[in-house]
Amino acid sequence: MKLEVDQDRLLSEIEALAAISDAEAPAVTRIVFTPTDRKARAWLGGLCEEAGLTVRQDAVGNTFARWAGSDLAAPAVGTGSHIDAIPNAGKYDGVVGVLGGLEAIRALQRSDFRPTRPIELLVFTSEEPTRFGIGCLGSRLLSGSLSPEAARRLKDGEGGSIDEVRRKAGLRGELEDVKLPGGYYKAFVELHIEQGPLLERQQIPLGVVTSIAAPASLQISIEGAGGHAGGVLMPDRRDALCAAAELILAVESAARTSGEIDTVATVGICEVFPGAVNSIPSRVRLSVDIRDTDLERRDAVMKATENAGHAISERRQVTIHNDLLNADAPANCAPAVVEALSQSCIKYGQKFLPMVSRAYHDSLFMARIAPTGMLFIPCRNGYSHRPDEYASAEDIVRGTLVLAETLAALSA
Ligand SMILES: [Zn+2]
Repeated sequence: MKLEVDQDRLLSEIEALAAISDAEAPAVTRIVFTPTDRKARAWLGGLCEEAGLTVRQDAVGNTFARWAGSDLAAPAVGTGSHIDAIPNAGKYDGVVGVLGGLEAIRALQRSDFRPTRPIELLVFTSEEPTRFGIGCLGSRLLSGSLSPEAARRLKDGEGGSIDEVRRKAGLRGELEDVKLPGGYYKAFVELHIEQGPLLERQQIPLGVVTSIAAPASLQISIEGAGGHAGGVLMPDRRDALCAAAELILAVESAARTSGEIDTVATVGICEVFPGAVNSIPSRVRLSVDIRDTDLERRDAVMKATENAGHAISERRQVTIHNDLLNADAPANCAPAVVEALSQSCIKYGQKFLPMVSRAYHDSLFMARIAPTGMLFIPCRNGYSHRPDEYASAEDIVRGTLVLAETLAALSA
């Protein structure tokens, strides 16, 4: 089997998809179910049909493009990622796994390889939490990690429910039918940019993911007392922002002292009310994201955050309320898929790094219903979710080639 990736075609498709965007180039904005997202989906569906794949969409817009194998009843080997992009993002996050996955299938078709099991490209709906406040909407529903009832309660910024929004986007059917039957996939592999600096720093061209860290998201509300910045003297203050400042440092310290480099914690949003220069902050809302590859260690950081909150609340006479938005469990990649990826790297004489995915992906949820693995390629400076996100042609082609080889091995 001689596999060759059509570099010119793949790169020009990445550019073409980047041009279907609500932001000015080089930035990309593509929010799920907007006219722009629908245009991108239609364009992509056309490419899949052109490749002779059978395309179907489920009720939430997850798109499946299947290359039939000789054993029609065998569980499929899946690959794919997402094409939605947060505001002002880059053109490679998710896209490399979708267009690279499609090109991997085309490369296999051009060779003399014919799969026994079907090979299926899967494009997940709304990996990014931009519209509904929850990441990996499509893969959560596919894997049964989010119930249809819970999904129906989600609203977008304009108050639109998922059912309203998806119907407006032309999607029919019921959310109940999205969950995949057990054993649907024999294996699932996602190609993705690393979104971190390790591969580039160590000058290793490929990463084979062994486990995927999972975030817990908390919203912390702190209620103190407002007042005039001149009138209220320091001993009488119950400044919510000063309490928040202590709590933010406590979150950082809890992650730093966990004893493991894989523990990370971030306070990414701090909203201050009333937000006037001459007014004491009365209310603060913090958004906290805590991640680890180990569930117990991550939960220990959450506990430490909670304890710090109690202490600060007593000392500063403020009330602190924690809302747990989600706490998904981390996932281990399947040894068989890790092995298939590693063997493909070796076959092409490529060095690879076994590594942890610190960002989370649809694969986190696919791992609950299928043996799953991920292949990373470097991205410049580790930048992602920004317009200057960049992966080189060489790295994209290499990742696509190793992916194709892996799909062949798993579907033979
Ligand atoms: Zn992504």
